[in-house]
Amino acid sequence: MQQVEYMISIVVPVYNEKEVLGDFHERITQVLDKLSLDSEIIYVNDGSEDNTLSILTKIREQDARVAIIDLSRNFGKEIAMTAGLHKAEGDAVVVIDADLQDPPELIPRLIDEWQDGYDVIYAKRSRREGESAFKKLTAHLFYRLMGAIGQIKIPEDTGDYRLLSRRAVDALNTLQEQHRFMKGLFTWIGYRQKAILYERDPRHAGESKWNYWHLWNFAIEGITSYSSAPLKLASYLGLLTALGAFSYGIFIVIRTLLYGEPVQGYPSMIVVILFLGGVQLMSIGVLGEYVGRIFTETKRRPLYFINNFSQRRANQTQTRLTQTEAQKDKGGCV
Ligand code: UDP
Ligand code: MG
Repeated sequence: MQQVEYMISIVVPVYNEKEVLGDFHERITQVLDKLSLDSEIIYVNDGSEDNTLSILTKIREQDARVAIIDLSRNFGKEIAMTAGLHKAEGDAVVVIDADLQDPPELIPRLIDEWQDGYDVIYAKRSRREGESAFKKLTAHLFYRLMGAIGQIKIPEDTGDYRLLSRRAVDALNTLQEQHRFMKGLFTWIGYRQKAILYERDPRHAGESKWNYWHLWNFAIEGITSYSSAPLKLASYLGLLTALGAFSYGIFIVIRTLLYGEPVQGYPSMIVVILFLGGVQLMSIGVLGEYVGRIFTETKRRPLYFINNFSQRRANQTQTRLTQTEAQKDKGGCV
């Protein structure tokens, strides 16, 4: 029988993770060592301010499968993942958090599903440990809202932990947009997708980089990237207000015709002016959100700049079926 040697890439965005990196690397290598696949681990250092980079460099010295992408500053997790996906050479790519909230032990199950022909296998948490009730509730509401108004159904209780087939990665790599709401993009590309259930552990060490302000912005990002519902909301509100004002106007005219014109009208006038002004301002705000997007998209800036890209040092003599040279340097500026 013909033996086909596949390679799997693990993409790990890291930002100030000095406390967990050692443990993480140990656990992921334990998993990878058991696989009968060639592998590479791409750490994307997202502008860490602690000694994350030097820890990574040490790890790379000891493990030839490790590659490091050192971004020139902190670009945020979404862009860090994108950079990793651009450089990943594997036939399948796993995106995983460094904080051990995504158990690496799940990878063999992800690979099984991939070999059964699925393109995107995402890990869906059946339980959220170590997160406040408020965070759970807001997350739930966000997914419900996205499902209700967005054009795409983003799977609930799913992080970025997932396995992507080569063609899914290629599809993602063709997307050049600046506003990269990855959870949405993963779903948007389509192909055969499947969820597998797991129990999410609390953060191993260090602290979450997300505060509520970030999460709020994240939610706005998700909604405005995938839905024009807020725009419609503005126009409906405008319509409603205009109708209200019109009826009120007729009422005033009729009343004046019937009862004459006392020296009044100041209260109603000021109310109408303020109300209309408020609605107009709000509509302008929503429009501004989209105009801002058009502005950044039309600039077509590269998504990131890489300070330094250290390739993995292991020899690459294995034959790989689907990898194309052309894919290697798509997007991004080096
Ligand atoms: N991360 C990143 N850039 C950032 C923030 C976070 O690369 O600006 C990485 C972080 O190192 C971790 C992953 O993204 O590997 C998830 O971050 P975190 O655990 O803070 O998010 P949470 O699990 O709370 O959603
Ligand atoms: Mg985390």
